[in-house]
Amino acid sequence: MTIREISESLRDKLVEWRRHFHMYPELGFEEVETSKYVKEQLTELGLSYKEYAKTGLTVEIESSAGPGKTVLIRADMDALPLQEDTDAVYKSKHDGKMHACGHDTHIACLLGVATILSQKRSEFKGKALLVFQPAEEGPGGAKPMIEEGAVGDVNNPIHDACLSLHVDNSPVNTISLKDGHLTSAADEIYIDIKGAGGHGSTPHKAVDPVYIAGQLIVGLQGFITRTVDPMFPHILTVGKVDGGTRHNIIAETARMECTLRTTNRDTRTQLSKSLPTFIKQIAEAHGGSAEVEFGFGYDIGNNDIELNKIVREAAIAEYGPEIILEGEGTLGAEDYFEFGLGGKIPATMFWLGGGNPEKGMTHDNHSNFFDIDEDCLPMGTTVLTAAAMKYLNSN
Ligand SMILES: [Zn+2]
Ligand SMILES: [Zn+2]
Repeated sequence: MTIREISESLRDKLVEWRRHFHMYPELGFEEVETSKYVKEQLTELGLSYKEYAKTGLTVEIESSAGPGKTVLIRADMDALPLQEDTDAVYKSKHDGKMHACGHDTHIACLLGVATILSQKRSEFKGKALLVFQPAEEGPGGAKPMIEEGAVGDVNNPIHDACLSLHVDNSPVNTISLKDGHLTSAADEIYIDIKGAGGHGSTPHKAVDPVYIAGQLIVGLQGFITRTVDPMFPHILTVGKVDGGTRHNIIAETARMECTLRTTNRDTRTQLSKSLPTFIKQIAEAHGGSAEVEFGFGYDIGNNDIELNKIVREAAIAEYGPEIILEGEGTLGAEDYFEFGLGGKIPATMFWLGGGNPEKGMTHDNHSNFFDIDEDCLPMGTTVLTAAAMKYLNSN
């Protein structure tokens, strides 16, 4: 049987798995029951697993045809803190929690991949390392899994390439591929401005941190446009400003919280150094001071062109060229790309179409109405499996 035929024969199972995960969503690092259910399914398949980062799992499926490369295939398992408002029969049974980003689909597809690869050990070389990771929506489960040794020694990792999919509301029966930039780094900047409090009538006897915050809100945008290479998308958003107590009091302190999104490693490094300096100098120029905490978040997601070629060819071999759409990049972030170990290991992620206007499935990921057309489950399973086997057999 072809990979596609096996995936089709698994359709009922894939739907059953996905609905189970959908009905019992759990938040990041709380995926205890989800993880337990995955372990039960793996055990039924005769597969053993290792545990990392509280609820994360890895499974190795080795070839019986001989040694070769190792391909990592990853699914995330966490849900979002959101009340589901669909009227699906498989609606979330956990109040205030919902699989609104489709990670239920990702787990089901990866279990499908496990099923097929364990039947086809004689048809590929090397091995697949399946990763079921916690907490993609935050604070991030990939990094702690890596730190605990899920891919071996980071200086000498066991994997040679990474594959993953993400379901979205693009048309069902399609996958979307994007070469190069797919997701951005998302770093956090916390700024504590110290001024000197006083009466609103005597600003010359005080140092106004709220005014400094105002200068920074405007100044940061200008600073970035004048100092950063505009050919690489990047954005700074001041998401929160907090300062002051009353209309006629000059505050003592103010606080700002920002997110910085970059798509180029040089830009990211440059701004991680220049922004704190700029912020401090602006505060000092107005008689105050600032403490800046620059928190590195998820890594930049760059899809490897050679791996994409393999995914494209594998998908076309199973379904024909009409299923391939041109994918779009985003300034959203994905911690999957942490498995690329800072760009050392090629990685790619494709979008799996789960949208279907005829069935009312048009909502964006993270919407309280998000749902997917389950017809995408066999395709997600097929493309991941076929791409993994094609990679292993051509390397
Ligand atoms: Zn999400
Ligand atoms: Zn997601």
